[in-house]
Amino acid sequence: MDPVVCLYACALFLFGLCAGSFLNVVIYRLPHGASLLHPPSTCPKCSSLIKWYDNLPVFSWLLLRAKCRSCSEPISSRYPSVELATGLLWGAVGAMAAKFTLEPLVLAGVMTATLVFVSILIAIAFIDYDLQIIPDELSIGGTVLMLGASAALPYLHPSWVETIPEVPGQVASLFGGVIGAVGGGGFILTFSIMGTLLFRHQITKAQVEDPDISTAIGFGDVKLLTLVGAFLGWQSVLVSFLFGTVFGALGGIVDKVRTGSWPPERIGIAGAIRYRWHSGGSVIPFGPFLCAGAMVMVFARTPVLDWFHSIILPLFR
Ligand SMILES: [Zn+2]
Repeated sequence: MDPVVCLYACALFLFGLCAGSFLNVVIYRLPHGASLLHPPSTCPKCSSLIKWYDNLPVFSWLLLRAKCRSCSEPISSRYPSVELATGLLWGAVGAMAAKFTLEPLVLAGVMTATLVFVSILIAIAFIDYDLQIIPDELSIGGTVLMLGASAALPYLHPSWVETIPEVPGQVASLFGGVIGAVGGGGFILTFSIMGTLLFRHQITKAQVEDPDISTAIGFGDVKLLTLVGAFLGWQSVLVSFLFGTVFGALGGIVDKVRTGSWPPERIGIAGAIRYRWHSGGSVIPFGPFLCAGAMVMVFARTPVLDWFHSIILPLFR
């Protein structure tokens, strides 16, 4: 392995573990409107303050053998899982960025924007999984951040910089971000309206169990794809939605194996559409799958888009 790539990946893996530790706080406190900085972390079972040496990402959990030092109650494997996932994804961003040939300042900007985007998606995925909500602070706040990054870094939407050379690169790139946000959000909103009309019968049935369900796709998911589009652009956000749908269908199959139930309406796209799939009492939100789809496009945007172009463009010839 190229030593530069290795250095970037390892350094960002370690920073990512620490970022994951902070994301655990975001995931648990943000939906309840609690401060992210105060009070310091305590054991959820015995409320004793967690010392810094027991709060090292992943390592402390392993050293403590997943038990609280004061009350010996088990510590959820969720904490080290979020830390490890964040570490690995940050490391992957580092490995990817090490291959970019950009000026150092631009490289730092692109890397920072990508790390922030990836981290917001991790937080959204876990919060939506836990509570079936996507906080506006993350989706709308993230969209604003990503549009700001688009304006500051023309590298994020290079095709728009090429398409409209008459305007400064920053303006063209911001335009690309806005088109991506409107395209992503607008697409899934249309999809949601169509799905709501198409699956009205199932939605009415699902409402008996959960009165909050009123549309095929939650409005939180619309805001999530607005965020994804602002960073990835309109083409990638649409492809990321396709991946999200496939992952959602696979998730439905896994859920079937787990719970041993399989309502037929959960198969395929109809199943991936979130009128939330009820199975043995478990609810599968769509957000985590959309986040996974967006992650694919973060790391494999160019080859995946090239592949799509090679399939779609000949159709118009
Ligand atoms: Zn404890």
